[in-house]
Amino acid sequence: MKIKGITTRLVHADRNLNQPQDGAVHFPTSNSVLFEYKDVNDLVDVFQGKKMGHVYSRSSSSSNSALQKILAELEGGVDAATFATGMAAISAALLSLLKCNDHIVVSQFLFGNTRSFMNTLENFGIEISYVDVTDVNAVARAVRANTRLVFTETIANPVTQVADLAAVGQLCAEHKLVYMIDNTMTPGHMFDAKGVQASLTVMSLTKYFAGHGNVLGGAIVDTGLFDWSDYPNIFALYRVGDPRNWGLTQIRKKGLRDMGATLPPHSAQQISIGLETLALRLERCCNNALRLATYLHGHAKVAQVYYPGLSDHPQHYIAREMFKGSYGGIFSMDLVEGADILAFLNHLDLVITATHLGDTRTLALPVASTIFYESGAQERAKMGINDNMIRFSVGIEDIDDIVADFEQAFNKI
Ligand SMILES: *Cc1c(COP(=O)(O)O)cnc(C)c1O
Repeated sequence: MKIKGITTRLVHADRNLNQPQDGAVHFPTSNSVLFEYKDVNDLVDVFQGKKMGHVYSRSSSSSNSALQKILAELEGGVDAATFATGMAAISAALLSLLKCNDHIVVSQFLFGNTRSFMNTLENFGIEISYVDVTDVNAVARAVRANTRLVFTETIANPVTQVADLAAVGQLCAEHKLVYMIDNTMTPGHMFDAKGVQASLTVMSLTKYFAGHGNVLGGAIVDTGLFDWSDYPNIFALYRVGDPRNWGLTQIRKKGLRDMGATLPPHSAQQISIGLETLALRLERCCNNALRLATYLHGHAKVAQVYYPGLSDHPQHYIAREMFKGSYGGIFSMDLVEGADILAFLNHLDLVITATHLGDTRTLALPVASTIFYESGAQERAKMGINDNMIRFSVGIEDIDDIVADFEQAFNKI
């Protein structure tokens, strides 16, 4: 029978795609680093890419392959590679695909560590233009003869700018640029990356995918849309077979095998178990976030709420079209002038102050003094980050309890 529902697909994905033995519903974890070949000819063929197989678990293993199949299916891609963390996936992909003197166009609204990694790339001689990705014309103006790739997130954090995802995709297609989207905020069914002509999606599995704050991971999915025979930086060795696979092959060889940030097999299984409830958790987080943001929007002690689900958000209409009626589980707010945001955070009882997002629990963080402290005041201003901004990652708790916690904390300031 043809399965249509996302949660039906997710709950049965491991069993259906990976067919574990003895009727097990989870693919087993294998910790073997090495893989034996009875006939050495088979080992040689696997090394030379003529046969599929595992040779050494830094490069690939059955546990990682099982998770990759689920992720490729979920994201509608042709293939996926998994990494130890989201940052490992992002850094491996960019270091594998770029060369000195290449140019890339990057969102000026980036996850702080990704923004910091861009400085490292610049040190290696990669030219970077940081642009306002909510405006496709700004992206178009930045494109040069040596531009190779455009990188953006879907919904940025903490200010929740939404990239003009479809228009940027069209621009990349016209210029034959790799379109790489960090889809950590809007995973799976929430966003159709292929529909906006993405070439690669990259995501932190640590966040919504795994979801419970107990495991790190990252992944890159190739949508199959980009023709890698147009891409000048693919090594001759990897220009064999179907050109749709060349990009991910190079990312696997250079970014995973050579750089070595492998996802541990046990983590792969933990992530696949988290994935079973991805759609359920996300729906609840999004509904809770909309309720909470709407409540705070009218509150006397709140100056500003940044959430794409509010109709006064500058990209509300893009978000409505792109994310199927959901607006994500992350929002930020500025308290009114003079309100002590640290005191407010200390008065929150249920809400945890912690740096993480996409968790089952509601989390809060003062932004300027923590995750964007290293950026400095000038960079923060460019991203729209104010000094009295608090970011929230809304969890799956019962919404009335979260609102009550805010109420009691507001009453104390
Ligand atoms: C957390 C995050 C990352 C990095 O993921 P890790 O698994 O923590 O390394 C990358 N991009 C975005 C948008 C994130 O929120």
